[in-house]
Amino acid sequence: MTKYIFVTGGVVSSLGKGISASSIGKLLQARGLSVAMLKCDPYINVDPGTMNPFQHGEVYVTEDGAETDLDLGHYERFLNKDMHHTNNFTAGKVYEAVIARERRGDFLGTTVQVIPHITDEIKSRYRSVSKGADVVLIEIGGTVGDIESLPFLEAARQMGLEAGKDNVLFIHVTLIPYIRASEELKTKPTQHSVGKLREIGINPDIIICRAEKPISNEMKAKLSLFCSVPKESVIEAPDVESIYEVPLIFHRQGLDEQIMMLLRLRTQQKDLDSWSAVVHRLKNPKNEVTVALAGKYTDYKDAYKSVNESLIHGGIANEAKIHIRFLDTTSPDIQSQLENVHGILVPGGFGDRGIEGKIKAAQLAREAKIPYFGLCLGLQIAIIEFARNVLKLSAAHSTEFDPKTRYPVIDLLPEQKNVKEMGASMRLGIYECALKKGSLAHKAYGQNAVNERHRHRYEVNNKFRKLLEDSGLMVTGIHAPKNLVEIVELRNHPWFLAVQFHPEFKSRPERPHPLFADFIAATVERAHGSQSPRKMPTHV
Ligand code: GLN
Repeated sequence: MTKYIFVTGGVVSSLGKGISASSIGKLLQARGLSVAMLKCDPYINVDPGTMNPFQHGEVYVTEDGAETDLDLGHYERFLNKDMHHTNNFTAGKVYEAVIARERRGDFLGTTVQVIPHITDEIKSRYRSVSKGADVVLIEIGGTVGDIESLPFLEAARQMGLEAGKDNVLFIHVTLIPYIRASEELKTKPTQHSVGKLREIGINPDIIICRAEKPISNEMKAKLSLFCSVPKESVIEAPDVESIYEVPLIFHRQGLDEQIMMLLRLRTQQKDLDSWSAVVHRLKNPKNEVTVALAGKYTDYKDAYKSVNESLIHGGIANEAKIHIRFLDTTSPDIQSQLENVHGILVPGGFGDRGIEGKIKAAQLAREAKIPYFGLCLGLQIAIIEFARNVLKLSAAHSTEFDPKTRYPVIDLLPEQKNVKEMGASMRLGIYECALKKGSLAHKAYGQNAVNERHRHRYEVNNKFRKLLEDSGLMVTGIHAPKNLVEIVELRNHPWFLAVQFHPEFKSRPERPHPLFADFIAATVERAHGSQSPRKMPTHV
């Protein structure tokens, strides 16, 4: 029988519920259990694809092309396992499905209501990922007490009733704030938030406490008493240097032991060796490098979550500590911001803010032979820069930013020109890319073809391809069925590589993405000379 664990959040948002859920998943996986992950988002958007990353963080794309919540990125990275469209759903998706059935006449004669129709739909989605899973871990977005998350919590309560005590577990992630003036940690907000959960009919079994100071034994006893959970089920989640330490911190406090006991699970396996090795490498770097990230959202790091993590993974592969410097691409002065930078990365993006600054960054990388890594928009930027400054087509642009440009080096394919609905209509998910023998990409991957994830509308315009190639820009990866440019590189440059896809969605700490590992190797070389860095194996 599949067991269900619900992870809820209390007091405030951004507590790292996703990291907690991923860490629990990792611990259970290390015990030899098959774990399925599910994220529910209580907003009305059908998926986060149409949302601004500034509000909700990056949109994470799965192999099957679903645009999902960024927590799925944590699930993939921690569990080293692919997620799919079924692993994330929103209130919008639930309502869309129920309303479509109502229109079809499936509920003829009935009043369609939140309980039971919406909650039944939610429960069926909770169960939909259970095939082959010993444990399904369900993270409910939002904070307990929000109006939006109520149907999700009500459905979770019903699951508890239907499946029975030994089969459903409730874990509440909460904040224990530290009051600086009185130098005290406070349990009251957590008591209130647990009270809110109880009003809904859910008694948490385990409390995970985020706190910036260590929680004393007396405080744990107090939390245990007021929240009505055993003392061993009060788990501390301190601030950490790296999120990848969290599973080990939970394990040391016996969290997995507690879960196994409460769910009456028994296994022999216990293997966190590979994970511990990753954390050890991460905490004992031999080199340090600075990478400039030329994006748009300089103040909101979650917008580039997977890119940040992938750079860290590249660092793990090369035993290098990575400092990320967010460039202000709207500033006219890019050059001074690049002082002591060992690599430049231009990530994906939409909209024209900071475009000229990104083009300048690509130009400086090309001319000063600084390692350059372009991701999606970062490839389009590299092409525009090359067309303007090497081919001397000074008006070259993407039609996304200048629809009337004389030299549309980046353009829409005919099928994208007729798109009417913006939701889920980009080139999404995996496409095969054939690699050119002897190229940087081919050497890094060690394969002739790879599958990588996409999320974009615009493509390199093949009309300009010959011109670009004749002047030293090499196309080293193509999607052959449609003859689309997937990877470009520069001749006579130590490391200049740009991809039309998003390799950052496939990198994991235990399996750093080869292109990120290679890019970081090039930055280490720039920073520390040519001693060859020791790498760990990578593959996609
Ligand atoms: N805006 C560009 C496009 O739609 C790039 C998208 C991206 O970087 N993900 O093609």
